[in-house]
Amino acid sequence: MVDGLLKGLGVSEAAFTNGGYPIHTPIDGSQIASVTLESKATVAQKIDLAHQAFLAWRDVPAPRRGELVRVFGEVLRKNKEQLGELVSVETGKIFQEGLGEVQEMIDICDFAVGLSRQLYGLTIASERPGHHMRETWQPLGVVGVISAFNFPAAVWAWNTTLALVCGNSVLWKPSEKTPLTALACQALFEQAIKIFGSAPEGLSQLIIGDREAGEVLVDDPRIPLISATGSTRMGREVGPRVAARFGRTILELGGNNAMILAPSADLDLAVRGILFSAVGTAGQRCTTLRRLIVHRSIKDEVVARVKAAYAKVRIGDPRKDNLIGPLIDKQAFESMQGALSKARDEGGQVFGGERQLKEQYPNAYYVAPAIVEMPGQSEVVRHETFAPILYVLTYDDFEQALRLNNEVPQGLSSCIFTLDVREAERFQSASGSDCGIANVNIGTSGAEIGGAFGGEKETGGGRESGSDSWKAYMRRQTNTVNYSRELPLAQGIVFD
Ligand code: NAD
Repeated sequence: MVDGLLKGLGVSEAAFTNGGYPIHTPIDGSQIASVTLESKATVAQKIDLAHQAFLAWRDVPAPRRGELVRVFGEVLRKNKEQLGELVSVETGKIFQEGLGEVQEMIDICDFAVGLSRQLYGLTIASERPGHHMRETWQPLGVVGVISAFNFPAAVWAWNTTLALVCGNSVLWKPSEKTPLTALACQALFEQAIKIFGSAPEGLSQLIIGDREAGEVLVDDPRIPLISATGSTRMGREVGPRVAARFGRTILELGGNNAMILAPSADLDLAVRGILFSAVGTAGQRCTTLRRLIVHRSIKDEVVARVKAAYAKVRIGDPRKDNLIGPLIDKQAFESMQGALSKARDEGGQVFGGERQLKEQYPNAYYVAPAIVEMPGQSEVVRHETFAPILYVLTYDDFEQALRLNNEVPQGLSSCIFTLDVREAERFQSASGSDCGIANVNIGTSGAEIGGAFGGEKETGGGRESGSDSWKAYMRRQTNTVNYSRELPLAQGIVFD
């Protein structure tokens, strides 16, 4: 199913046929490739090489570093269809979303190229005569990127393009569930390196491995920054380990995203927003809409309309004309069923959620998206289940809706649908949503790369992609220059 795609993208046959670790597609559960997981020893060698590459790359002028990223963007444009299809086959997301993921990679390349001519610091007024003060941003070192299965290419590109223009080298450990997309991304990056002509060896390397390989990166002091995307469970392990060696992290962890639906809302817009945010990528986005906090006066109408929309959604092979593909694996299906059964125990009324297409695909896990009307924000609602389950909660007054929005451990994305400017502004104020993303009349998912992406609380606090996220990939330095003939001390100290 993927041989032609992988070869077309420049991956050598040996890399995906000779290993002992089988890779299955969630589309029908069949084995499509086998890869070799790296040993701790080979990971250590790659860290060495990455460190050497950093020492050379940090002295290359930033706009020249940007040129490599520009070329990579061109290579991605030429290979968008094939890479998008591979993402679809390996993750089960629909082809359009596979293409969207590659487009995000292209967009972040463009962003990073522009950034490579900026990376600006400040000038600061000095209290001493004949002195200049400024803040400069210096390359940091090797950046370790650990990524999740559900965005097998874009998250790496978000990190790598910024890290490279900032003068760093990169080591990427993708999810063990999606190594084929990673092999293809690496092959495309190497094409860009060839066209570029003069990058140090090992500037951006790939490590195919499981969490043990990730742990080697996490513990190595030659890697000053670990950018880790995945579950809160993973972040709880990675964060303290990196902190113990005084390394830095960008943690992009689980979400539990809510929409407040106010009585004044444009319901046509809201129902479309709910549908895309709640069932897109089969509920397997970190920004998936998981909680609908709807005003009591419109609850019945909204639930009826969402149910009607759900009933029409086409479920099936993500490469064909469907809107929902399969869950990633059996474990994801079981965790969804476990959550639905817990929701019933906690007083929920479940609509949908059943397995689909079982006869046609006995080894794949397609599900109908579920809507669950809950009596309150009970334990199951406060937990992220990585599947298409939308919990419906009811509110009577706006303060209660805000409290429900914020009273979960996670803090990634949130939104409100309202035509009331007071509610909209309050939602985005100091006492409004406590999430990293707070939208008005737009759903919780589908962020653009221009803004900083990430969330608070158990989502980890990291920010990547746009705005000034690049600063996390650099070392801040404060410089004072004395161009006078005196040596005045700060704070008026006399030391003669
Ligand atoms: P996961 O936590 O199982 O795995 C993520 C990555 O971490 C994998 O590469 C895995 O090998 C690695 N890993 C796991 N334990 C590790 C350890 N102790 N040390 C080093 N590496 C370790 O997550 P998943 O199932 O692949 O992805 C789904 C989760 O990711 C969801 O919770 C989702 O919300 C989250 N996610 C968050 C964002 C975001 O930007 N906030 C984006 C995508 C996915």
